[in-house]
Amino acid sequence: MLAADFSNFGSEITNVTEAGADWIHLDVMDGQFVPNLTFGPPVIASLREYSRLHFDIHLMANNPHELIEPLIDAGADSITLHVEALTDLEKGINQIKSHGCKVGVAVNPATDEQEILPFLQSVDLILVMSVVPGYGGQSFIPASIDKVKRVRSIIEDANQDIELQVDGGISTENSQALINAGATILVAGSFLFSSNNQMSNSILSLRGNVNQD
Ligand code: ZN
Repeated sequence: MLAADFSNFGSEITNVTEAGADWIHLDVMDGQFVPNLTFGPPVIASLREYSRLHFDIHLMANNPHELIEPLIDAGADSITLHVEALTDLEKGINQIKSHGCKVGVAVNPATDEQEILPFLQSVDLILVMSVVPGYGGQSFIPASIDKVKRVRSIIEDANQDIELQVDGGISTENSQALINAGATILVAGSFLFSSNNQMSNSILSLRGNVNQD
Protein backbone atom coordinates (compact mmCIF):
# COMPACT_ATOMS: atom_id res chain seq x y z
CA MET A 1 0.00 0.00 0.00
CA LEU A 2 3.07 2.27 0.07
CA ALA A 3 2.14 3.57 -3.41
CA ALA A 4 -1.50 4.26 -2.47
CA ASP A 5 -3.08 7.67 -2.04
CA PHE A 6 -2.89 8.01 1.76
CA SER A 7 -5.53 10.75 1.75
CA ASN A 8 -7.99 8.10 0.52
CA PHE A 9 -6.46 5.15 2.33
CA GLY A 10 -9.71 3.36 3.15
CA SER A 11 -11.05 3.41 -0.41
CA GLU A 12 -7.61 2.41 -1.73
CA ILE A 13 -7.77 -0.70 0.49
CA THR A 14 -11.23 -1.42 -0.92
CA ASN A 15 -9.93 -0.99 -4.50
CA VAL A 16 -7.06 -3.43 -3.99
CA THR A 17 -9.40 -5.93 -2.36
CA GLU A 18 -11.95 -5.73 -5.17
CA ALA A 19 -9.19 -5.94 -7.79
CA GLY A 20 -8.35 -9.45 -6.59
CA ALA A 21 -5.23 -9.09 -4.44
CA ASP A 22 -4.52 -12.00 -2.08
CA TRP A 23 -2.96 -9.99 0.73
CA ILE A 24 -2.68 -6.35 1.81
CA HIS A 25 1.01 -5.49 2.42
CA LEU A 26 1.47 -2.61 4.88
CA ASP A 27 4.90 -1.00 5.27
CA VAL A 28 5.39 0.30 8.80
CA MET A 29 8.49 2.54 8.96
CA ASP A 30 9.85 4.16 12.10
CA GLY A 31 12.05 6.95 10.71
CA GLN A 32 15.13 5.26 12.24
CA PHE A 33 15.65 1.82 10.75
CA VAL A 34 14.72 3.56 7.50
CA PRO A 35 14.69 7.34 7.08
CA ASN A 36 11.01 7.44 6.15
CA LEU A 37 7.89 7.39 8.35
CA THR A 38 4.60 5.87 7.28
CA PHE A 39 1.86 4.80 9.69
CA GLY A 40 1.32 2.59 12.70
CA PRO A 41 -1.24 0.60 14.67
CA PRO A 42 -4.04 3.23 14.94
CA VAL A 43 -4.13 3.73 11.18
CA ILE A 44 -4.02 -0.03 10.53
CA ALA A 45 -6.88 -0.56 12.99
CA SER A 46 -8.97 2.00 11.12
CA LEU A 47 -8.21 0.27 7.79
CA ARG A 48 -9.36 -3.11 9.06
CA GLU A 49 -13.03 -2.32 8.33
CA TYR A 50 -12.27 -1.84 4.61
CA SER A 51 -11.04 -5.37 3.87
CA ARG A 52 -11.15 -8.89 5.21
CA LEU A 53 -7.95 -9.83 3.35
CA HIS A 54 -4.82 -10.96 5.17
CA PHE A 55 -3.03 -7.87 6.59
CA ASP A 56 0.69 -8.48 6.07
CA ILE A 57 2.79 -6.06 8.12
CA HIS A 58 6.35 -5.34 6.98
CA LEU A 59 7.88 -3.84 10.09
CA MET A 60 10.90 -1.63 9.43
CA ALA A 61 11.77 -0.50 12.94
CA ASN A 62 14.89 -0.52 15.11
CA ASN A 63 12.92 -1.50 18.16
CA PRO A 64 9.94 -3.54 16.95
CA HIS A 65 9.16 -5.15 20.32
CA GLU A 66 6.94 -2.35 21.56
CA LEU A 67 5.01 -2.28 18.26
CA ILE A 68 4.24 -5.99 18.00
CA GLU A 69 1.28 -6.20 20.41
CA PRO A 70 -0.37 -2.98 19.19
CA LEU A 71 -0.02 -4.21 15.59
CA ILE A 72 -1.64 -7.54 16.42
CA ASP A 73 -4.44 -5.75 18.30
CA ALA A 74 -4.88 -3.53 15.23
CA GLY A 75 -5.55 -6.59 13.07
CA ALA A 76 -2.19 -7.83 11.73
CA ASP A 77 -2.34 -11.38 10.31
CA SER A 78 1.41 -11.62 9.80
CA ILE A 79 4.36 -9.48 10.88
CA THR A 80 7.77 -9.56 9.20
CA LEU A 81 10.89 -8.38 11.05
CA HIS A 82 14.25 -7.45 9.53
CA VAL A 83 17.36 -9.46 10.42
CA GLU A 84 19.24 -6.13 10.24
CA ALA A 85 17.15 -4.49 12.95
CA LEU A 86 19.04 -3.68 16.14
CA THR A 87 17.10 -6.14 18.21
CA ASP A 88 16.88 -9.62 19.58
CA LEU A 89 15.19 -11.22 16.58
CA GLU A 90 14.45 -14.54 18.27
CA LYS A 91 12.62 -12.67 21.01
CA GLY A 92 10.55 -10.75 18.44
CA ILE A 93 9.67 -13.92 16.54
CA ASN A 94 8.53 -15.65 19.71
CA GLN A 95 6.58 -12.59 20.80
CA ILE A 96 4.65 -12.57 17.50
CA LYS A 97 4.03 -16.32 17.53
CA SER A 98 2.79 -16.27 21.12
CA HIS A 99 -0.22 -14.29 19.87
CA GLY A 100 -0.99 -16.83 17.13
CA CYS A 101 0.13 -14.36 14.45
CA LYS A 102 2.21 -15.52 11.49
CA VAL A 103 5.80 -14.32 11.40
CA GLY A 104 8.37 -13.51 8.75
CA VAL A 105 12.01 -12.45 8.49
CA ALA A 106 13.28 -10.00 5.88
CA VAL A 107 16.73 -9.54 4.35
CA ASN A 108 17.90 -6.35 2.67
CA PRO A 109 19.69 -6.47 -0.71
CA ALA A 110 23.11 -6.10 0.97
CA THR A 111 22.44 -8.82 3.55
CA ASP A 112 23.61 -12.39 3.00
CA GLU A 113 20.69 -14.81 2.93
CA GLN A 114 22.63 -17.10 5.30
CA GLU A 115 21.49 -14.70 8.05
CA ILE A 116 18.06 -16.35 7.96
CA LEU A 117 19.41 -19.82 8.76
CA PRO A 118 18.96 -19.59 12.56
CA PHE A 119 15.25 -18.77 12.12
CA LEU A 120 14.22 -21.39 9.54
CA GLN A 121 12.45 -23.59 12.06
CA SER A 122 10.35 -20.77 13.46
CA VAL A 123 9.14 -18.57 10.58
CA ASP A 124 6.22 -18.78 8.15
CA LEU A 125 7.68 -16.39 5.59
CA ILE A 126 11.01 -15.13 4.27
CA LEU A 127 11.05 -11.73 2.60
CA VAL A 128 13.78 -10.96 0.06
CA MET A 129 14.01 -7.20 -0.45
CA SER A 130 14.61 -6.38 -4.11
CA VAL A 131 15.21 -2.69 -3.36
CA VAL A 132 16.77 -0.92 -0.36
CA PRO A 133 13.73 -0.35 1.89
CA GLY A 134 12.48 3.08 2.80
CA TYR A 135 10.72 4.44 -0.25
CA GLY A 136 8.28 3.25 -2.89
CA GLY A 137 8.85 3.57 -6.61
CA GLN A 138 12.43 2.26 -6.74
CA SER A 139 13.93 0.13 -9.51
CA PHE A 140 14.17 -3.62 -9.06
CA ILE A 141 17.68 -4.94 -8.30
CA PRO A 142 18.26 -7.76 -10.88
CA ALA A 143 20.57 -9.76 -8.57
CA SER A 144 17.48 -10.41 -6.43
CA ILE A 145 16.42 -13.20 -8.82
CA ASP A 146 19.49 -15.32 -8.00
CA LYS A 147 19.04 -14.53 -4.32
CA VAL A 148 15.45 -15.83 -4.50
CA LYS A 149 16.79 -19.05 -6.08
CA ARG A 150 19.30 -19.45 -3.24
CA VAL A 151 16.65 -18.82 -0.58
CA ARG A 152 14.32 -21.29 -2.32
CA SER A 153 16.96 -23.99 -2.05
CA ILE A 154 17.59 -23.11 1.60
CA ILE A 155 13.84 -23.58 2.25
CA GLU A 156 13.80 -26.90 0.34
CA ASP A 157 16.87 -28.17 2.20
CA ALA A 158 15.21 -27.31 5.51
CA ASN A 159 12.06 -29.11 4.35
CA GLN A 160 9.92 -26.35 5.83
CA ASP A 161 6.61 -24.92 4.64
CA ILE A 162 7.72 -21.29 4.27
CA GLU A 163 6.38 -18.63 1.91
CA LEU A 164 9.01 -16.79 -0.14
CA GLN A 165 8.06 -13.16 -0.63
CA VAL A 166 9.76 -10.53 -2.79
CA ASP A 167 9.24 -6.79 -2.25
CA GLY A 168 10.46 -3.81 -4.29
CA GLY A 169 10.16 -2.76 -7.93
CA ILE A 170 7.93 -5.72 -8.84
CA SER A 171 6.39 -5.53 -12.33
CA THR A 172 5.73 -7.77 -15.32
CA GLU A 173 9.41 -7.17 -16.25
CA ASN A 174 10.50 -9.46 -13.39
CA SER A 175 7.43 -11.28 -12.02
CA GLN A 176 7.69 -14.46 -14.11
CA ALA A 177 11.45 -14.75 -13.47
CA LEU A 178 10.78 -14.45 -9.73
CA ILE A 179 8.04 -17.08 -9.84
CA ASN A 180 10.38 -19.40 -11.76
CA ALA A 181 13.07 -18.73 -9.14
CA GLY A 182 10.71 -19.93 -6.41
CA ALA A 183 8.90 -16.83 -5.14
CA THR A 184 5.39 -17.53 -3.81
CA ILE A 185 4.30 -13.98 -2.87
CA LEU A 186 5.02 -10.86 -4.93
CA VAL A 187 4.51 -7.46 -3.30
CA ALA A 188 3.49 -4.86 -5.87
CA GLY A 189 3.08 -1.15 -5.16
CA SER A 190 3.81 1.39 -7.86
CA PHE A 191 3.09 -1.14 -10.62
CA LEU A 192 -0.52 -1.40 -9.43
CA PHE A 193 -1.15 2.19 -8.42
CA SER A 194 0.70 4.07 -11.17
CA SER A 195 -0.51 2.05 -14.11
CA ASN A 196 -3.24 3.27 -16.44
CA ASN A 197 -4.49 -0.29 -16.66
CA GLN A 198 -7.28 -1.59 -14.47
CA MET A 199 -5.77 -2.82 -11.22
CA SER A 200 -7.46 -6.21 -11.62
CA ASN A 201 -5.67 -6.69 -14.96
CA SER A 202 -2.36 -5.59 -13.46
CA ILE A 203 -2.74 -8.14 -10.67
CA LEU A 204 -3.58 -10.89 -13.15
CA SER A 205 -0.57 -9.98 -15.28
CA LEU A 206 1.73 -10.50 -12.28
CA ARG A 207 0.41 -13.94 -11.38
CA GLY A 208 2.24 -15.58 -14.28
CA ASN A 209 2.41 -19.31 -14.72
CA VAL A 210 3.52 -21.42 -11.82
CA ASN A 211 6.22 -23.99 -12.68
CA GLN A 212 6.94 -22.47 -16.06
CA ASP A 213 10.60 -22.38 -17.06
ZN1 ZN B 1 7.24 -3.95 2.19
